[in-house]
Amino acid sequence: MKRKKVVIIGSGPAGYTAALYAARANLEPLVFEGFMAGLQGGQLMTTTDVENFPGFPEGILGPDLVTAFRRQALRFGSEMLGEDVESVDVSRSPLIVRGSQTQVETLSLIIATGAMAKRLDIEGTRDGEFWQKGVTACAVCDGAAPIFRNRPLFVVGGGDSAMEEALFLTKYASRVYILHRRNQFRASKVMVDRVLQHPKIEVIWNARVRKVSGDRVVNRILIEVEGKLEEREAGGLFLRLGMCLIQPF
Ligand SMILES: Cc1cc2nc3c(=O)[nH]c(=O)nc-3n(C[C@H](O)[C@H](O)[C@H](O)COP(=O)(O)OP(=O)(O)OC[C@H]3O[C@@H](n4cnc5c(N)ncnc54)[C@H](O)[C@@H]3O)c2cc1C
Repeated sequence: MKRKKVVIIGSGPAGYTAALYAARANLEPLVFEGFMAGLQGGQLMTTTDVENFPGFPEGILGPDLVTAFRRQALRFGSEMLGEDVESVDVSRSPLIVRGSQTQVETLSLIIATGAMAKRLDIEGTRDGEFWQKGVTACAVCDGAAPIFRNRPLFVVGGGDSAMEEALFLTKYASRVYILHRRNQFRASKVMVDRVLQHPKIEVIWNARVRKVSGDRVVNRILIEVEGKLEEREAGGLFLRLGMCLIQPF
């Protein structure tokens, strides 16, 4: 069985960065890049312009950025395997990593299998509907896009990250609405105060999204507030419901 000093599971930005650093330390890492468990290259493979990565003043396409990460890791001697890891035996040292075809012993293991934003299973928000066409889970990634400029934008959530998203979106939106299913936030007081004092933000308590609609991109949202349905104009819906770990193996 092959023996390595470092094995890395995952081929997103975290996995390739770990590979780059390990390779430059002459640790000759082996990267399980994944195949079925998640997208090879990670979440950035599913997006177009990445505008917040330093060094690319005009932005860079997500897949191009990931390809560059991969090439940089390869340049210093990382080894890549396009396989899923199916199990890891941590009861012994070296550990045993079992891929779909390859088994490796390793002295150390870096798990970089990512996380995914939680989404709502609601009409209009799914893949193939308005997901990434006005429905998103990352204001910092997408908020500056032209489709959101000077439009009413809706944020769903009640934690600190929902507050952050809402405050961030005030730069672009005509108005920001936070939809929260309860009548108080669980975010920290300082964040809640900032939100409640912001002239561009309105909180809609006891509210749930029921449907998102539009033509090419989102332009309407149906919400239920205290049992009553209301349809409103909407330029976008930002889901901020926390992250879930991808169950790697
Ligand atoms: C549509 C979209 C647009 C985005 N735009 C931006 C943006 O503009 N700017 C920004 O900063 N962030 C953006 N993000 C967020 C960014 O993509 C993530 O923060 C980043 O990809 C996380 O990197 P990661 O390496 O931790 O995980 P991921 O990118 O999720 O990679 C996880 C990796 O683990 C692998 N894997 C999982 N299980 C296994 C297994 N059992 N065996 C082997 N491999 C496995 C997968 O194949 C994948 O390669 C966006 C996300 C999405 C979905």
